[in-house]
Amino acid sequence: MRVETIPDSMTPDFHTSLRRWFRSHGRELPWRTNPSPYAVLVSEFMLQQTTVAAVIPYFDRWMRRFPDIATLAAAPETEILKLWEGLGYYSRARNLHRAAQAVLAQFGGIIPSDLTSLRSLPGVGSYTAAAIAAFAFDQCEPVLDANINRVIARLFNYRENITTKAGRNYLEQAANSLLPKKGGRRHASALMDLGATLCRAGEPDCAACPVHHFCKAVDPALLPIKPPKKAITEINDWRSFCRNGDSIYLVESPGPTWRGLWILPSGKPTAEPLATLIYSITRYKVTLGISNGVPQPNWTPFPLSNLPPMPSPHRKALRLILESPLHKPVR
Ligand code: SF4
Repeated sequence: MRVETIPDSMTPDFHTSLRRWFRSHGRELPWRTNPSPYAVLVSEFMLQQTTVAAVIPYFDRWMRRFPDIATLAAAPETEILKLWEGLGYYSRARNLHRAAQAVLAQFGGIIPSDLTSLRSLPGVGSYTAAAIAAFAFDQCEPVLDANINRVIARLFNYRENITTKAGRNYLEQAANSLLPKKGGRRHASALMDLGATLCRAGEPDCAACPVHHFCKAVDPALLPIKPPKKAITEINDWRSFCRNGDSIYLVESPGPTWRGLWILPSGKPTAEPLATLIYSITRYKVTLGISNGVPQPNWTPFPLSNLPPMPSPHRKALRLILESPLHKPVR
């Protein structure tokens, strides 16, 4: 599909308007203060499917503990998962670890700047490669995250499903047509911040938008068009709590979602659970119930003062039991 581009004679004005707005309204983010390739690599892994607000404290802790790629590559996976604990999608942490090792082994410890080499790293797909090229190396690449997709779909009034191959191609062409000749970092950051603030999901604030003169959106609140969300399936998961002095028993998760993490062992349903906790994971709404258990040969005791990495729902359920005799359902 041919993209109706902003005419060349208008593009400099578009960039000037966006740049001016970004100078005064751009977000201050820790990975932007010193956008080293390593800081950008870490932030891009953390930001996959996670909000900026949730990532910031993890990023700061991570950079203190693993200040460079060599330190990260040499760290044990258990420690990496422990630091990632609570951020979810743990395959990202494992891939980041493997990517650091690949940078050491294949690129002499220097994070590459070209898209092909970046894409050869574990966990780096086309989006992450473009984001690293733009944010770390200031290249003019189309960076299409959820915020920028929304801005582009609205700017060009694209009224088809953006998740199809045709939709993705359209957005990429449209984003390419907006790229400046230099300053890829600022351009991508500005579009991203515009999508995160004024051109937010739902009703955008078009009156305050620096590029509203260029925008072709009709009913922008209805854009971008995506397929309906998959239906939520509700499931129950019963787990055991078993304490022996200052230790509790856990089992290693069989994966794949929580591979490398430790969870409460499977348990029996009871009418009076020690704790009940409801959480969502992908398209499941899980009611986690905890009952008393009896140690089994494949259960491993861990001291409460030194627990291994655990997924948030199990860690929270354990804390509920340990901290309070009254166990209320929490979300
Ligand atoms: S004018 Fe409105 S819809 Fe268009 S880019 Fe700006 S905020 Fe988004």
